[in-house]
Amino acid sequence: MITAAVRSTTSGAARLQGNKATFATRKATTSSKSRSSTTTNTKTPTMMLTKLWRSVVGNGACRARHTLRAYNGTNKAAFSVASPDKVDVQIPVAVSPEVAKKHGFEVIKEEFVKEYGSNCVLYRHTGTGAELMSVHSADENKTFGAVFRTPVEDSTGVPHILEHSVLCGSRKYPIKEPFVELMKSSLNTFLNAFTYPDRTCYPVASCNTRDFYNLVDVYLDAVFYPRCAEKSNPENVKIFEQEGWHHELDSPDPSQLQYKGVVFNEMKGVYSSPDSVLGRVCQQALFPEITYGVDSGGDPRYITDLTYEQFCDFHSDFYHPSNTRFWFYGDDDPETRLEILSNYLKDFEANQAGVEKSRVLTQKKFTEPRTVTDYYAVSESEDPSQAGQQKAYVNVNWVLEDDVFDLETQLAFGFLDFILLGTSGSPLRKALIDSGLGEAVCGGGLEDELRQPTFSIGLKGVESSSEENLKKVETLVLETLESLAEKGFSDSSIEAALNTIEFSLRENNTGSFPRGLSLMLRSMQAWIYDKDPLEPLRWEDQ
Ligand SMILES: [Zn+2]
Repeated sequence: MITAAVRSTTSGAARLQGNKATFATRKATTSSKSRSSTTTNTKTPTMMLTKLWRSVVGNGACRARHTLRAYNGTNKAAFSVASPDKVDVQIPVAVSPEVAKKHGFEVIKEEFVKEYGSNCVLYRHTGTGAELMSVHSADENKTFGAVFRTPVEDSTGVPHILEHSVLCGSRKYPIKEPFVELMKSSLNTFLNAFTYPDRTCYPVASCNTRDFYNLVDVYLDAVFYPRCAEKSNPENVKIFEQEGWHHELDSPDPSQLQYKGVVFNEMKGVYSSPDSVLGRVCQQALFPEITYGVDSGGDPRYITDLTYEQFCDFHSDFYHPSNTRFWFYGDDDPETRLEILSNYLKDFEANQAGVEKSRVLTQKKFTEPRTVTDYYAVSESEDPSQAGQQKAYVNVNWVLEDDVFDLETQLAFGFLDFILLGTSGSPLRKALIDSGLGEAVCGGGLEDELRQPTFSIGLKGVESSSEENLKKVETLVLETLESLAEKGFSDSSIEAALNTIEFSLRENNTGSFPRGLSLMLRSMQAWIYDKDPLEPLRWEDQ
């Protein structure tokens, strides 16, 4: 919980990672920033970019400044080995609609995505409404994912606790920790789970086909038949208590009663990091009326309000095929994918009520800018009263759109973000650093992974004894943007941005992160909101 004393720290990266996805204890390292997109049209006019900024700067009403004052009181190392454009292998041919029908699926659309040398087929399971994107490529690093929409109404962290708990044994795999066993024994190149503010993802990857299908089976059984949500066995509540929260008494003195639990403890850690507090509070200030206004990861103050009953209800509402988007990617047999899923889906009926409940609503724009102040915990040794100076984080934030960006706007904002902040010489970054008002840039710039994209920027380590000083940061951000909107950007800076972003898209170097998974997460940015899942993958002129 955030209490305790004293002032700010200034070291560490300026970019916020924790504000959009509370990762499982096995932390993933994907960066949404590196996935910002581009266009190959090298004639993108300065005008278009400056016009965009004018619309943003001019629209002060959707803005919120956020001040965080000091309060006195992963991913397994893996290798993505194949590169479709470098390997001369036949891409598997999709099954015929008749064969798909035999397995209970109808084809919604089929397209070749040249950017990734992949044939993509979108299916709907007729019995349940589950959707499947089956991507056929020459990549031997096969990827599977099951993604559920899991919006929340409070900060008890129910999706996060569920994400941990479903991996603690299931109907077919009743062992205590199948996840740990798989980590040790399988040939996986990726095995993890992520909780976002509005969805929960279960991805696996492997280059070995048998191992891959085994992983898929363990994950499917885990999400649809976890022991933790099986109320018939009273023992199962212990999984919820272990992963979520429980009381612990180390001594006979009842006043020593403590709360413990894997997620409870994890979130206490998250809440003690100023950068993560900043990201979360900015997001909540921008979206007070919808699911992004509460913490899906869990606020330690509210995690202990969650009951086992509510936890099980959340599972039955949302972990249902009707609310699932499945993803297969790689060089494995297209029909086997349908067979595997069909074996699980045949036992379910459609659950339209759950689908309705899972829809992610949008935030209405504010009628005027808002200012929010919050506090972060610091250690006693950093007591500002002793250091004689209080330090704050100051961020200016915008909601950029009423809904998901269309592709063109997304590409343009990706460029703008890079031009404004991408390098140490970028004008907005430089203006902030050169001002001497703070010690480092904070706020990650463009964030377009959730339904309504945002832009957040500011400084940390700002001397905060006077409100005037905090206001200076806001004024600097606004004036810099206004002046850039007026003057435009130089051709050379636009060209540099184009070259850099285009190169990174073409190379698609996801490092140790499987390519198939990177594509899945990108596609999900639209698909999860019932938009075209292929649109985010198309960045070349069609
Ligand atoms: Zn976790």
